[in-house]
Amino acid sequence: MSGFSFTLAATDGRARTGVIRTPRGEIRTPAFMPVGTAATVKAMLPESVRATGADILLGNTYHLMLRPGAERIARLGGLHRFMNWDRPILTDSGGFQVMSLADLRKLTEAGVTFASHVDGSRHVLSPETSMEIQRLLGSDIVMAFDECPALPATHERQAEAMRLSMRWAQRSRDAFGDRPGHALFGIMQGGVERDLREESAAALRAIGFDGYAIGGLAVGEGQAAMFGVLDYATDLLPAGQPRYLMGVGKPDDIVGAVQRGVDMMDCVLPSRSGRTGQAWTRRGQVNIKNARHADDPRPLDEACSCPACTGYSRAYLHHVFRAGEMISGMLLTWHNLHYYQQIMQGMRDAIAAGGLDAWVADFHALRAEGDIPPV
Ligand SMILES: [Zn+2]
Repeated sequence: MSGFSFTLAATDGRARTGVIRTPRGEIRTPAFMPVGTAATVKAMLPESVRATGADILLGNTYHLMLRPGAERIARLGGLHRFMNWDRPILTDSGGFQVMSLADLRKLTEAGVTFASHVDGSRHVLSPETSMEIQRLLGSDIVMAFDECPALPATHERQAEAMRLSMRWAQRSRDAFGDRPGHALFGIMQGGVERDLREESAAALRAIGFDGYAIGGLAVGEGQAAMFGVLDYATDLLPAGQPRYLMGVGKPDDIVGAVQRGVDMMDCVLPSRSGRTGQAWTRRGQVNIKNARHADDPRPLDEACSCPACTGYSRAYLHHVFRAGEMISGMLLTWHNLHYYQQIMQGMRDAIAAGGLDAWVADFHALRAEGDIPPV
């Protein structure tokens, strides 16, 4: 597809580093995508998100189609102009969120009819409507419409959902058409069942996509089961195209996924936890609500160059959280997104240098030490 390409620069074991090129800019991989659900990464200006090192954002089709509406965003110049982010945007298909958030859902071969969780209005999401909504938003990377069944589910139920998703993948491909500069990714399903993952990957490869996502993980199966799937699932996908693990994850999930050949990930965790007083650092998780920080003049992480760490003490971060001040969520979100991007940059450099194993060993060793002792 003209205007969209993926170039691998280096591999180290199964881990890869490279660049996705789009007309809106380059995406260095492995990449972490902050989540901008409602056309905003909560508590962050777009230029601040960019300053953390993010090359691409994720937007949620389900939320945006309901409020403010895809047609309205299109009339206002598209999602990039609307939210003041001129770099690449990936939108999900709405398939996952319609099943987890909407009311009065009815799932048929045609698609999903549902009532909005915002105002109760009736809507339809199908492969065709999802492609149209993502086109109206102006998404650079469009996701095929799929069904992700809730776990636990029987093998039969998983097989049924996966095969429906593969028929929807073909309809998504047909409806997407030829859009130079824009990419369409297929989504592998099949839960933790290897035979279903293999069948799904074969079906997607037969259709042909610009990139391939691994869906249906990070839905409560646990890290060991997720890594168990990734141990073989990435090898089922074409080596020459990006592989995107959806909805992952904690820092150690991300590192393990990259070791297993994943190129892209997204998760609300760094931004969401920043608003609830949770920080992620090189030494693991820090709960800034804890009274131990009340008199601590030291930064969250003395090696971090983000504004929260260079300008403020743990005592201040503790105070503004306890006082309910908005700057609390702003600073912790910035720190968390910055830390996540530092992990990605560290892995990209390590893979390029052929030293990922040593980098990962250091990553785990520092986390095992835990947070700095109280003052
Ligand atoms: Zn920081």
